[in-house]
Amino acid sequence: PPPSDRRRALLARRRATIGSRSPLFYETPLEFVRGSGVWLEEASGRRFLDAYNNVPHVGHCHPRVVEALGAQAATLNVHTRYLNERVLQYAEELLETFGGGLDRVFFTNSGSEANELALRLARQRTGATGVLVTDSSYHGNTITLAELTTGLTVAEPLGAHVRALHLPDLDRPGTDDGTDEDQALRDGLAAVDHAIASLQEAGHGVSALLFDPLFSSEGLPRLPAGYVEGLCRRVQAAGGLVISDEVQSGFGRCGTVMWGHQLFDITPDLVTLGKPMGNGHPMGGVVTREELLEDFGRRNMYFNTFAGNPVSSAVGLAVLHVMRDEDLMGRAKRVGAALREEFLRLAAESAVTGAVKGQGLYLGLSFVEPDDPARANAPAAKAVVEGMVASDVLISRIGPDDDVLKIRPPLAFDDEHADLLVARLAPVLRAAGQRG
Ligand code: PMP
Repeated sequence: PPPSDRRRALLARRRATIGSRSPLFYETPLEFVRGSGVWLEEASGRRFLDAYNNVPHVGHCHPRVVEALGAQAATLNVHTRYLNERVLQYAEELLETFGGGLDRVFFTNSGSEANELALRLARQRTGATGVLVTDSSYHGNTITLAELTTGLTVAEPLGAHVRALHLPDLDRPGTDDGTDEDQALRDGLAAVDHAIASLQEAGHGVSALLFDPLFSSEGLPRLPAGYVEGLCRRVQAAGGLVISDEVQSGFGRCGTVMWGHQLFDITPDLVTLGKPMGNGHPMGGVVTREELLEDFGRRNMYFNTFAGNPVSSAVGLAVLHVMRDEDLMGRAKRVGAALREEFLRLAAESAVTGAVKGQGLYLGLSFVEPDDPARANAPAAKAVVEGMVASDVLISRIGPDDDVLKIRPPLAFDDEHADLLVARLAPVLRAAGQRG
């Protein structure tokens, strides 16, 4: 059948099973049959450059990851209550990438599970329930996390024990944040003090700050220097634990550091991991200090049937080894910096582009109204995302106003792919500029 008939049939089957509420990307949904490196391919042979997906971290279907998964699956896979060399090797090599006393790991199957467990540890440790998050954030799909979700539609109201912080984004149009960095810092930290006081007055106390050090769902804001340090210091001084959610920012994505929290002069108590950890195999984790883990373990028998099994560990190990052998963090730094320069050049030529955002291989470009650069322009961002898909390049959008391009490819993304992305983006931006 012609592709459009096939698409209609698949959409009908999807509606009849998964339902009509599970969102798909793009005006014309895509169906891929194969992936390799930074490429996704349709049955017709049409190939798309993947500048969006962070889960296939070292590249789609990386042969070494596939080989490790297959070999271990063909040998042994059991739950986690037996001794296993592979599991320990993975835990050791993963923990070697951390510092700051973070020397123990719980394995989970997803980022949501990791954040849920981290919040549980923080609650038990502190005896408090109050949680600080940021506006427009997302940390997962459990009921606890739904109650602190500010960046997606969820039916659960914000928990009485949750305070959401407005981020002082120096780039954000339509606010005063951009006027004066020192003032933005003072205002931002005053809001933190206020939130902490409010949690204490209400009797919740402060158990944790849960934040993504790249602030990705929040649209990659440009924060005043010292804001994150001041935020974490205040939370820890109030007796709370700092949870760095590295589902997006971890595993070298930022280019200069393996973990996003290392961008700042802070010492998180817990670091949560997910998405890229297993290159598509479901894996997550909580990394913490020995004393926190032991304290939790004295009062709880934590058991996770699947997490950290031999197959998952073989996969996780292969991801770490490919990252090391192909210097993917170095690549994220080099290719990301070059791409950033190109975005700055393109943005300077367009009346609808605002700020270039992000670092490493997590970049953004915001869109503004041509006659009012203080106003976000989501339709222009949407038109560019759709224009790029029509040009065989996959990207998306983020931010509170959905006005920021989300460019977050597998770290296998190299110079030639960056060149191709820029070559395709230039005419699409010109067309968006003409539409206004
Ligand atoms: N934290 C962050 C920052 C995320 O982006 C996500 C997923 N988008 C999660 C947690 C939840 O991870 P998962 O979907 O694996 O449960």
